[in-house]
Amino acid sequence: MNDSHFIYMLPMGNINGRFLETLRLNIEYQLDLPCRLMEPINLPEYAYDSERWQYNSLEILKLILNLSPKDAIKILGLCNIDLYIPIQNFIFGQAQFNGLAAIVSMRRLNGEYHGEACGEALIFRRTLKEVMHELGHAFGLIHCHSPRCVMSQSINVEQVDQKEIDFCDECQTFIGQHIMRWKLCWAEFYRQERSWWWTTRRSFANLSRAGSRKMALK
Ligand SMILES: [Zn+2]
Ligand SMILES: [Zn+2]
Repeated sequence: MNDSHFIYMLPMGNINGRFLETLRLNIEYQLDLPCRLMEPINLPEYAYDSERWQYNSLEILKLILNLSPKDAIKILGLCNIDLYIPIQNFIFGQAQFNGLAAIVSMRRLNGEYHGEACGEALIFRRTLKEVMHELGHAFGLIHCHSPRCVMSQSINVEQVDQKEIDFCDECQTFIGQHIMRWKLCWAEFYRQERSWWWTTRRSFANLSRAGSRKMALK
């Protein structure tokens, strides 16, 4: 029985609470799934590569996976550090394709990193896009050729700005069917729970009726 119910968000390092809560609400709205915020954890210093001055994203993804609650549909780590994978200079985020864990860093989404003025609202929009993108991969979506779709690949902030927060129709249909499957699993789970509850209640009622009969006979 599938008993995974929540998207979990795991803050890593110091991230503004209001920012996290707004992000949590937006994830719920975009995916129509409940999202829970976990207690923040410290950044894993063992993942830091002192030659590259960056953090190894694969190591962090492994850590996120280990911290995943049992009822997680997906778990998303959010951090503010420069991430890399060995074959690329940097990445905005990463996900296990059709898997459980994903990570997004706001570090290079912040214009200040590139020497441009950048308000919190713009950082938020960029972060939400990359969060939806990585969660999309975790739900089994590949890169999309539609440049406006959130699943289109972005290798710089300009490309992040060009795309929308939403999935295109094709990606939305795919992810919508995937999410619907989770919901049907829950419906079946609750239906069985309820029938278990009624059976148990009926046997208790019979037991207590038998008990009171016995008492009456005494
Ligand atoms: Zn991607
Ligand atoms: Zn698409």
